[in-house]
Amino acid sequence: MDHLIQKAAEALSRARHVAVLTGAGVSKESGIPTYRDALTGLWANYRFEELATPEGFRANPGRVWDWYAERRAQMRGVNPNPGHYAMAALADLVPSLHITTQNIDDLHERGGSRDVLHLHGQLSQIKCYNDCQGNPTLVDESEMVIGAASPPTCPHCGAWLRPNVVWFGEILPPGAFDRATQAAVTSDVYIVAGTAGAVFPAAQLPWDAKEANKAIVIDINPEPTGGALRRALADSRRVGRAGQPDPRRARDRRHAEDGLPRPAR
Ligand SMILES: [Zn+2]
Repeated sequence: MDHLIQKAAEALSRARHVAVLTGAGVSKESGIPTYRDALTGLWANYRFEELATPEGFRANPGRVWDWYAERRAQMRGVNPNPGHYAMAALADLVPSLHITTQNIDDLHERGGSRDVLHLHGQLSQIKCYNDCQGNPTLVDESEMVIGAASPPTCPHCGAWLRPNVVWFGEILPPGAFDRATQAAVTSDVYIVAGTAGAVFPAAQLPWDAKEANKAIVIDINPEPTGGALRRALADSRRVGRAGQPDPRRARDRRHAEDGLPRPAR
């Protein structure tokens, strides 16, 4: 382990552009449960499809609003952990650092990081269900129209308000994946932290970094990395020798192998 840390430190000391991808494991260290782990107590009888999909919201908007209100309160009660602070500190030590996160909490920002790209949206933000003023139509809590029923409604068009998070089956925020890809393909060191690399399209990013720029990929996880990320990194050498494949085709093929849903972009 020590020699791996030494190698990582050497790579970082030479790096010009560092890109980071973080996932649920980084938030979990602060006490934020994953989607599935959060289905406890009052929520134990629900499936995540009922709480984290557009269909679930349309079927019972009040219930989904309450679920996210509880998660928002939970988020406010926890603090950034040493991992968040270390990433903020690293930004001062390298010429350029870009963080992409799959997490919807604000712990990177509270840990001191700036310009964090949230692939799956932000729990702290609220938006109009119809995005009536453009995507996203964010609404400040002070502007929410609160009636007898939950959830509150949009001050512009009267539609329900919802959290500005990407639900299962929804596309990512406009341009988000392109920006994450741009950070990956220009990085010379790519750090993956707290994600097993099983959620596409984010799992593609370390592969892109390695393919496009021969980036050194540093994987920080308590468990040995399995699944898609390990295969992506192993594949990159083999695929590289075979020429320059169309990355989108490679991505689709990997989805087929993993039995995961295709990326919604
Ligand atoms: Zn609206």
